[in-house]
Amino acid sequence: MRLDKFLSNAKIGTRSQVKKLINKGKVKVNGSIIKKTSYKITKKDEVFYNDERIIPYHNIYIMLNKPKNYVSATDDKFHSIATDLIDHPYKNDLSIAGRLDIDTTGLILLSNDGDFIHKVISPENKIFKKYIVEYKGNITEDKINKLIEGIDLGDFITKPSKVKKLSDNFLQIEICEGKFHQIKRMIDYIDLELVNLHRKSIGDLSLDVDIGEWRLLDNQDIEKIF
Ligand code: URA
Repeated sequence: MRLDKFLSNAKIGTRSQVKKLINKGKVKVNGSIIKKTSYKITKKDEVFYNDERIIPYHNIYIMLNKPKNYVSATDDKFHSIATDLIDHPYKNDLSIAGRLDIDTTGLILLSNDGDFIHKVISPENKIFKKYIVEYKGNITEDKINKLIEGIDLGDFITKPSKVKKLSDNFLQIEICEGKFHQIKRMIDYIDLELVNLHRKSIGDLSLDVDIGEWRLLDNQDIEKIF
């Protein structure tokens, strides 16, 4: 591959920007400055820009702790978007696996790997998402059992879920589907008022970054999801 193409693929800059960098002598291949933009590199070559090793374009996987008032989108005219919080050269290539409402906080997964996104959101894979619900109102065994067994919300019947009462105002609910406003509608159905909603985990991958923070996932993290 040409050196300028390699660098622009790796998101160092546009094709014309990286050409300028190469001409200025900012790029080294295997320790030597290369000023020829069409210089051919192979997989074995080590490319450095500003003395930093440039890894070829690759898939990345990210967990983000979404704050309130951010939309789970990569483009929006009126609101802050989840990717505003991510500082990574590939951020414009990211898609979101499973959206959260603007007023919901917690774990969202992002990646430039379309197959991964599909695998996480596909209902066939039955990946449980764990939510913490802060509510107001009276909870009873009967209401909890209704949620567990599945309820008829009119346009769909919820699949069986796992529900645990954590304290007087907090429930933990795990669902393996992600219909629009699903948890909110389930809570409304049992006559409780939802105060806050937070997603804590997806599969066995638990959120471990502070609100508004993100981190890259490694293979071990990804195995926990599926
Ligand atoms: N269920 C909801 O109602 N909202 C979310 O953001 C996620 C699940």
